[in-house]
Amino acid sequence: MKRRWAALLVLLLAVPVFAVLPFHPDFPAAWTPWAPLRLSDKPNFLTAYKISRLRKDPRLCRAVLAQTDLVFTPVPDHRTGPGCAFQNAVRVTGADIRFMPGFTASCPLAVSLAMLERHVLQPAAQREFGAKVTALEHVGTYACRNLYNRQQGRRSEHATANAIDVTAFRLSNGGRIEITRDWGDHGAAGRFLLTVHDGACDLFDTVLGPDFNAAHRTHFHMDMGRFWACR
Ligand SMILES: [Zn+2]
Repeated sequence: MKRRWAALLVLLLAVPVFAVLPFHPDFPAAWTPWAPLRLSDKPNFLTAYKISRLRKDPRLCRAVLAQTDLVFTPVPDHRTGPGCAFQNAVRVTGADIRFMPGFTASCPLAVSLAMLERHVLQPAAQREFGAKVTALEHVGTYACRNLYNRQQGRRSEHATANAIDVTAFRLSNGGRIEITRDWGDHGAAGRFLLTVHDGACDLFDTVLGPDFNAAHRTHFHMDMGRFWACR
């Protein structure tokens, strides 16, 4: 019984401390839910939430994107078909790493990709290969279509350029890591892909890879939609 009272007392003291702590000027912004996202913030459990807040705020999103090395131009909002549109989108034409091909995507997706490069891709490539990632290969962001190209059903996140299908990475040592070939590999390539997949889950709302189903055997689907999944 005594122990229960002690636990209650600790709880009563802890709640105000944790409610007040984020207001302290030295409290890290990365751990403050209402502080805007900064590229240098190490991904944590708040990151995906902070990026999702950029969805409805194109100005803030572009300000965050301007902190990255991505070269981009805003794309005017426009509808392209039933349930298909570009909204708060940017055309990415350059970056420290080469995106092959260049692409147009929602601004939050571009922010997540910049975060992925800095916090996940480069550290993992350095650790596994002692090299840098020089290019990211993908098979597209935008497609006015339903999930799995079905005739009926929900629109894919690709219909609003809010998703990317990543297929391979090129390295500064001439290496190329390909999801179709290297997923499940027991060496450095396999470890690199696992790290990238798991790291992407902190930055994107949905990440689907080869372990999810046969349709994703060749790529990582990463999107900034409303559903959370890491498979
Ligand atoms: Zn996809």
